[in-house]
Amino acid sequence: MSAKNKPVYVYGPVPSRRLGYSLGIDVIPFKTCTLDCVYCQLGPTTHKTIRRKNPYPPNQILSQIRKAIQSGQQIDYITFSGSGEPSLNFSIGELIREIKKFTRIPVAVLTNTTLLYRKEVRKALKSADLVVPSLDAATQRLFSQINRPHPHITADKCIQGLKTFRGNFQGSIWLEVMLIKGINDSPPHIQKLKQVISEIQPEKVQLNTVIRPPAEEYARPLTPEKIEEIKNELGAHCEIIAEFHKKGQTQPSQDLEEAILSLVRRRPVTLSDISASLGKHQNEILKYLNFLLEDGKIKYVPHQDSVYYEPN
Ligand code: SF4
Repeated sequence: MSAKNKPVYVYGPVPSRRLGYSLGIDVIPFKTCTLDCVYCQLGPTTHKTIRRKNPYPPNQILSQIRKAIQSGQQIDYITFSGSGEPSLNFSIGELIREIKKFTRIPVAVLTNTTLLYRKEVRKALKSADLVVPSLDAATQRLFSQINRPHPHITADKCIQGLKTFRGNFQGSIWLEVMLIKGINDSPPHIQKLKQVISEIQPEKVQLNTVIRPPAEEYARPLTPEKIEEIKNELGAHCEIIAEFHKKGQTQPSQDLEEAILSLVRRRPVTLSDISASLGKHQNEILKYLNFLLEDGKIKYVPHQDSVYYEPN
């Protein structure tokens, strides 16, 4: 395989409001997920599965992580996230344990919670320092409507799995809730969520809303006032992470922003067009597209099954 075609599992570090400079680790083929969320910024799930696999050689992933650390760039977190559900990678536990042998940089895992009902997955994530699980629905009806899960996954399995995980996990849990206008923001549902959250006992609850291009156009954001109201309802350990045009505390790379802007100015482009043109991982490009969207420098236009980025 030529160097040009070598698979890239590591991207960034990308500036993140929550995690500082985060080195992204993508261990799952694009859009392989247990869910097909209506708000997914990566588009529809093309491979919905609950079968855990080893799609890539762990030693190659580890060697790319080592190389990124040795480059001397500032890295505040090594973060498993990527193009689908990272716990679908059978080796994620081994990868986390191996990373811990060569660096003290904390390891975070962003997960959609769906596989935590399985003992082996809870065991795999146990060595992480921070787990950021998502939970958008406290009822089966809303879970099916928002997250469109694989038939074997239920809201109850997710909630029970998360509670069991909490019981044995020594690190921090920051629970993320994506709020969608007119779908999961009603006062009765917020009360149900509040009850479930009190049973899970995460260190933080982080509220987000759909301010980025969603898979389904009907997934709309809450206003900043409404999200503030829900934050107050959910209590002191709750914070808003939806960015609403606020800059993060970390500085994005000006060069990459400019390179993306010059492509967008030439013609409407998709995420994969930009990624292919600039030779950067889609998730890194996505992060920068979000900065440009927040700054109002570009806009997105859904067209047929794709999302195009254009100058604003
Ligand atoms: S869990 Fe994440 S990657 Fe999977 S469909 Fe939902 S938003 Fe997309």
